[in-house]
Amino acid sequence: MSETTDKKPAKPVVLTCAQPTGRLHLGNYLGAVLNWGRMQDDHECYFGIVDQHAITVPTVPAQLRENTYSCLAQYVACGLDPARSRLFVQSHVLGHTELAWVLGCLCPLGQLERMTQFKDKSRKQQSVDAGLLFYPVLMAADILLYNADLVPVGDDQKQHLELARDLAEKFNHRYSETFKLPAPFISKVGSRIMSLQDPTAKMSKSDPNQAGTVYVTDRPDEIRKKVMSSVTDSGAEVRAADDKPGIRNLLTIMAGCTGRDVAVLEAEFAGKGYGDFKKAVADAVVATLDPVRLRYDELIKDREELARILKAGAESAQATAFRTLSKVHRKVGFVERPR
Ligand code: AMP
Repeated sequence: MSETTDKKPAKPVVLTCAQPTGRLHLGNYLGAVLNWGRMQDDHECYFGIVDQHAITVPTVPAQLRENTYSCLAQYVACGLDPARSRLFVQSHVLGHTELAWVLGCLCPLGQLERMTQFKDKSRKQQSVDAGLLFYPVLMAADILLYNADLVPVGDDQKQHLELARDLAEKFNHRYSETFKLPAPFISKVGSRIMSLQDPTAKMSKSDPNQAGTVYVTDRPDEIRKKVMSSVTDSGAEVRAADDKPGIRNLLTIMAGCTGRDVAVLEAEFAGKGYGDFKKAVADAVVATLDPVRLRYDELIKDREELARILKAGAESAQATAFRTLSKVHRKVGFVERPR
């Protein structure tokens, strides 16, 4: 019989962690954050801004601090609701690194050295710090600390989630049943958004051609300019065909912004030219992102409000984290902390 000291949550627990790396783009919004927002009613959501992960590669301290506030303000502006979810900064919650240590003591070095992301990232650096190698163990701790059922992950993080499951199983086997095995969450809705300048490449903040990337904080004139100058395909038909990756991408974007089906949009624009269509796409993106930008502009100036959100999120996450940690410490044989 498995031991449970936590009350079974009524809703499945979802954990999402994102590094405070700067601005969110339309791909992040339509492909990820919008869906996270939709999960808040029927899931117990933890949204962590993982600053401890961020320092596994060289960072500028002042920039990391600003990016952390900015990331929080963008998430709230995009619909992550501090009243319904726990929005927190990783370094504010004691337990992430402590649990990572315990899990690290169950993790073969070779398994970490074989991680694809470690190999990729370390190849790009002259010298590699232990933190980069240990990154997936910290991620496992992020997940297991809250006993998450579901973790929305992109392709690049699937291997890390596998490690979290391995470590959970190992801990359960060595000590006794403690952790649930977290499952990847692949959303049924949510789309892959491509660059407006190269519809064969994913929209990305690291794209050297920034005209292809729409940010959630872009002003309406910037959005219109980027959409109107997007690369389209030969022909004149508005159809989501394989030989029309540019138009297909714009249809996906418009469908994501309006909640309407691509087929319905194709019918609506039958016989109309690319110009009219692009204008409608630009209107739809502006209508979606304008409220996000306005809310972001308010929030980013209101440090007191951001601090309040972080305090509430950290306190709530901390309560769960302490429960897990004290259970783990007891199981591994640490003497109970004097109160
Ligand atoms: P990243 O910015 O790569 O850390 O990704 C953060 C989240 O946004 C992940 O869930 C990604 O899968 C998602 N994402 C990033 N770029 C895109 C894109 N172009 N289209 C759809 N989803 C994306």
